[in-house]
Amino acid sequence: MAERVALFGGSFDPVHIGHLFVAEEVRIRLGYDRVIFVPAAHPPHKNGPPAGSATDRLAMLGLAVEHECFSIGRWEIDRGGVSYTIDTVRQVIADGLASGKPGLIIGDDLVSGFSSWREPEEVINLANIIVVRRQDTPLPELLRDAHTVDNSPLPVSSSQIRKRVQSGHAFRYLVPEPVYRYIVDHRLYQDS
Ligand code: ATP
Repeated sequence: MAERVALFGGSFDPVHIGHLFVAEEVRIRLGYDRVIFVPAAHPPHKNGPPAGSATDRLAMLGLAVEHECFSIGRWEIDRGGVSYTIDTVRQVIADGLASGKPGLIIGDDLVSGFSSWREPEEVINLANIIVVRRQDTPLPELLRDAHTVDNSPLPVSSSQIRKRVQSGHAFRYLVPEPVYRYIVDHRLYQDS
C-alpha cells in the first residue's frame, strides 16, 4: 500500500546519529509514514567517490535502521555510476511507492548548490523539498516551495567521524553501537 514517504539521500559514509535523529524529527513533525534512506553510488556534489564501499555503507545502514518506519532504498547503488536525485524520484513515483508527492529531505548545507543538481526544477516539481538545519544558525535563503523544519541539529558529520577514526579519537556514541562495531571489526576509515 502506498504511504506518505520522505526520501533521504546521502553517502552515509558512515550513517550517524545526526542522520537518524533528523529523519525521526521530520517523520514526526511532518507526519510521514516512512523515511527511506537512499545511499548514493557516487554522489555528484562531493569530491571523489565515498571512502566506504557501497557494500559497507549499505551494511552499516542495515545495522542502523531498525525503526519500523525507516527503510533503505537501493535504487542508486543498483543503478551504479553517478547518482542523480531526479532519477530516484522518478523511479519512486513510477513504482507507485508514495501516496502523493514524495518528500525529499536535504540538509541546509546543500541548499546553495541545489541549482547545480540535474534538473533542479523538475526535482522541485515532483517532490516536496524538506530543508533541515545542520547547525544552530538561521536557515539559508529558501528554495522555491521548500518546507523548512525547525529541527534541533546534532553537530555530527560523516567526515568528522572518518577523521576521528583515522586519528584514533573517540567516535563510539556518534553512531549506533552496531555501526561502531562494524567500523572497528572491518577496520574502516583507517587510512581514508
Ligand atoms: P560528509 O561529512 O562526508 O560530507 P554528511 O555527514 O554530510 O557527510 P551525508 O551522507 O553526505 O552526510 O548527508 C546526507 C544528508 O544528511 C544531507 O542532506 C546532509 O545535509 C544531511 N545531514 C548530514 N548530517 C546531518 C546532521 N547532523 N543533521 C542534519 N542533517 C544532516
